[in-house]
Parts: sequence; C-alpha cells; structure tokens
Amino acid sequence: MANIGEVFGAASAVVKGMGITFKEMMNPTVTENYPDEPPKLQERFRGVHELQRDENGLEKCVACFLCAAACPSMCIYIEAAENTEKVRISGGERYAQVYNIDYNRCIFCGFCVEACPTDAITHGHGFEVASYNTSTLIKRKEDMLVQIPVGARPPVITESAEAGAH
Ligand code: SF4
Ligand code: SF4
Repeated sequence: MANIGEVFGAASAVVKGMGITFKEMMNPTVTENYPDEPPKLQERFRGVHELQRDENGLEKCVACFLCAAACPSMCIYIEAAENTEKVRISGGERYAQVYNIDYNRCIFCGFCVEACPTDAITHGHGFEVASYNTSTLIKRKEDMLVQIPVGARPPVITESAEAGAH
C-alpha cells in the first residue's frame, strides 16, 4: 500500500504536468500558413546555396576547387578562368567561369561551405527546389550568385560585361 509521501509525490507530478499543459494552452497558436505566408526558418537552416560577392561587387569565389574536393556527393562542377586587367570578376587570380551544383545529388551537408576559404559559398534559405524534371535540379552560377550590393562602386565588371567585350 502506498504511503502518504508517495501519494503527495504523484499528485505533485500531476499538478506539475497539468501546469505545463495550461501554460501552453495560454500561448498563442503557432500555425505556418505556408504557402500563403513564408515559413519562419532558423538562421542555420541549410537551403539552396548562394554565391557571395564582396563589398565592391566582386565575386568571392576564386575557383580554388576546395568545395568540390570536400563534397561527399561529388556534385559540384567548376570551370576556372583567369581575371585579366580588363575584366576582373573576383578578388583573386581566378574566378569560377562555370559553377554548377547538381541538386539531384546534394545532401545539404554543408561541407562545401565549411571548406571555402573566402566564404564564397553559403547556404541560403531557399527550399522550393522540388521538380519532376531532374535537368532543372542542376543549379548554375547564375542561379546562385547574389545581387551586386547597393552602393558598390565602379570599377565592377560583371560577367555580362565580359561577354559583351568578346
Ligand atoms: S552541401 Fe554537401 S553535398 Fe551539397 S554541394 Fe555542399 S558539400 Fe556537396
Ligand atoms: S566556392 Fe569557395 S571553395 Fe569553392 S571554388 Fe569558390 S572559393 Fe574555392
């Protein structure tokens, strides 16, 4: 037969549990109205990659291939090119003329982000990449490159300027 201490212990546990229940009942209900409203994502959420620029608008990627080497899925494809006096795309000697990530294989592990010495490749918060057509899951540099920052001053020569020069 239970003694008085055990009865009080059990009753206090029930009161404590119900206290949490009532406290949660008083809190506002959290409902994500996706897709009508964008979901609230955690800052660390690993979404679609972004290729970053520096404060002058130059691309941070210097085509060192470290991200591709670190990728366990081997889904990063890079073609490097040299910056010239007329056309400067990145702050280093080279830049990524082609930078593709195959999202058919990417597992969003973040190894590429950790491996990058210039913080050029990061995870953004995009997640709507599902597709019935696998060819659309190869994201190109143009899909991932961020906009030139507001206030970036010339000379900033973008790849489109390079294309026009040929
Ligand atoms: S997140 Fe992982 S799998 Fe995806 S590209 Fe980066 S290293 Fe490769
Ligand atoms: S994203 Fe970073 S690690 Fe990858 S090639 Fe560019 S600079 Fe190197």
